Amino acid sequence: MRAEQDKIVSFHYRVCEVRGSQDPGTEVETSHGRPPLAFLFGHGGIIPGLEQAIAGRAAGDAFEVVIEPGQAYGLRREDFVQRVPKKYFHDAEHLKPGMATTLSTRDGPRSVTIVKLGSSVVDVDLNHPLAGKTLRFAVEITEVRDASEEELAHGHAHGPGGHH
Ligand code: ZN
Repeated sequence: MRAEQDKIVSFHYRVCEVRGSQDPGTEVETSHGRPPLAFLFGHGGIIPGLEQAIAGRAAGDAFEVVIEPGQAYGLRREDFVQRVPKKYFHDAEHLKPGMATTLSTRDGPRSVTIVKLGSSVVDVDLNHPLAGKTLRFAVEITEVRDASEEELAHGHAHGPGGHH
């Protein structure tokens, strides 16, 4: 079975940030050592460049792909720094500049980076930590299967590596 619209695809990955074609890359994250990541193909569950690279692959396939920021986490926006009252942080006492934390927003939790700390406010960078970065993924497809009706209704994968 091949990865395509409405299939559940599970894969292991190792992702490196790369700066230029000669750069061996700096590891950012890996799924090795935990269950493979599972997602419902064609529902926006993973970044567009990675989904395109996975299209048509089958269990056992292994490959590398370099993804530009526009097809990964987007370009960095320099105007994306905002001043937020400290009370919105659950861990305000422990914050330091350069640290990543989670901010509760109306749209749900959001990853931010601390820029500056004041006595009652915090300046945060709302860019995704990987925005503006070129990423190289080493991917191993572990399973491709049909989605259940429930998974299609929810728009995501269930079971190990998925939701719930
Ligand atoms: Zn669900």
